Amino acid sequence: MTNRPTRRFKTLCVHAGQPPDPTTGAIVTPIYQTSTYVQEALGRHKGYEYSRTQNPTREAVEANIAALEGGKAAVAFASGMAAIDAVSTLLRAGDHVVVTESTYGGTYRLFEQVGRRYQLDFSYVDTGDLDRIAGAMTPATKMLFVETPANPVLDLTDLAAAAEITRARDVAFVVDNTFASPYVQRPLEHGADLVVHSTTKYLNGHADSVGGMVVAARDDHIEWLRFVQNAAGAILSPFDSWLLLRGTKTLALRMAQHNASGLALAQYLADHPKVERVFYPGLPDHRQHALARRQMHGFGGMVAFELGSLEAARHVLDSVSVFSLAESLGGVESLISHPATMTHASVPADERRARGITDGLVRLSVGIEDVGDLEADLHQALGA
Ligand SMILES: *Cc1c(COP(=O)(O)O)cnc(C)c1O
Repeated sequence: MTNRPTRRFKTLCVHAGQPPDPTTGAIVTPIYQTSTYVQEALGRHKGYEYSRTQNPTREAVEANIAALEGGKAAVAFASGMAAIDAVSTLLRAGDHVVVTESTYGGTYRLFEQVGRRYQLDFSYVDTGDLDRIAGAMTPATKMLFVETPANPVLDLTDLAAAAEITRARDVAFVVDNTFASPYVQRPLEHGADLVVHSTTKYLNGHADSVGGMVVAARDDHIEWLRFVQNAAGAILSPFDSWLLLRGTKTLALRMAQHNASGLALAQYLADHPKVERVFYPGLPDHRQHALARRQMHGFGGMVAFELGSLEAARHVLDSVSVFSLAESLGGVESLISHPATMTHASVPADERRARGITDGLVRLSVGIEDVGDLEADLHQALGA
């Protein structure tokens, strides 16, 4: 091993995994849009045989994001759900998983409607409460699946403390880091075994690609996930890999703005008379504000707020003009959504209510537009 100096985060964003192209010196990793590779002779090739198995553009973005999360390797998939599905193949029939109760609706749907068909069992608990995590573990528990901050009311889980609980048992600790991005928090540094991302969100950041990533620290996990990537074939395309590489180059700059504008709008909403409650880890009244300060570097660009009724929520959703009504998050454009009928529609109504996903709840993905324009847009929509 050569003794290279450790690079800091912003440098890794721009350079990790992307040496100049070996054939031309191109500074940007090319889109290797090819299905197969010509072999020199029987059994003699350059390490590339078929693009489901190996592709240089995909390898570059895997190396880039592995470096950003501080992992040993990363494996890219066609979507965040494909990445989470691949992680679920680490389990065998009869295994039990403890899951953050307010997890992404698509994760809940995958576990309940697909995982259960393969005799996997899931318990959904408030992982913000460490006693609930420990209490939900059974002898069959093989995985803890945590989302922090969690969708949509931004509950947090203490990653270091949760890692402590899994370390005492034979339980893999998986963190969905989509809402934070590795700029805001790096779960592997707190003891997680695997990090999953919907790269569709902050990592790509420009709302023009759907993708997923699993970052791993353990050799056995890496070996299995690479095997599944090729065996099941839910790969990230060369073009999407290239878009994602372009996205992560500016991740640090974008996240600094998402953090600043997220905090500013959360503070504005907290002072607004028509807003009953604001959910944002950066506000002192967030139930885990102290943990947020300890575990996160900035508080992200996701803000949720309660307006008390569907009518009030509908009025705001209909009245904004800089914010766009859409699902998804993490792009440069600001989005506004209604979790109960959009992202979390697949969660049964009683489950939804138990998780605080009321009809009056509105969620913002704060983009990088001028924050004064964003505040003015909310101001006129709320009809102050
Ligand atoms: C969007 C999202 C997913 C699913 O990712 P896709 O790329 O849409 O498949 C998983 N987890 C979280 C937290 C998400 O926001």
